[in-house]
Amino acid sequence: MIRITRAEILATQDALTLDIPVKGTSLEILNCASDSLQILLRVQHDGQGIYLKGSVELDITEMCDLCLSEYNTTLHGKFEILYTNKRSLVQNSDEQEIYLFTLDQPEINIDPIVNEALLLEEPMKHLCKDDCKGLCPYCGTNLNESTCACKEDTIDDRWKPLKHLTHH
Ligand SMILES: [Zn+2]
Ligand SMILES: [Zn+2]
Repeated sequence: MIRITRAEILATQDALTLDIPVKGTSLEILNCASDSLQILLRVQHDGQGIYLKGSVELDITEMCDLCLSEYNTTLHGKFEILYTNKRSLVQNSDEQEIYLFTLDQPEINIDPIVNEALLLEEPMKHLCKDDCKGLCPYCGTNLNESTCACKEDTIDDRWKPLKHLTHH
């Protein structure tokens, strides 16, 4: 859970910086590289309710798809939510993210929102660097760190028939 109390929200006229321990949130299943996650929340009050605009950062450890080594990266997520006690607004909220926050609720749990914002940013491909050379498919050498003898011969052999074809 990532809780923000109504008192905290009401006391905030501008922005709120939260430093939340990852442990106890839904993000602890990720391979987090640090113990905490940073959330910057902009709070705006108006007649409709309370707007929360958040940006969140989390350091995680990923495994490279190509060379299988671990590397650290930072996920950046953003969200924008209106919390209101007007049920009619929530029922008609096709376009905006609007949640009910009635006066008897002492706090908001933004855990699911933070989780979604971060997981949307999780790339489909995990690469330690854009030009990762990966592992040699024949001997398993990490080609970012060294070269191997089998590489050139084998690739030359594979391409020879194709080169031959293009000459005709
Ligand atoms: Zn890699
Ligand atoms: Zn090799």
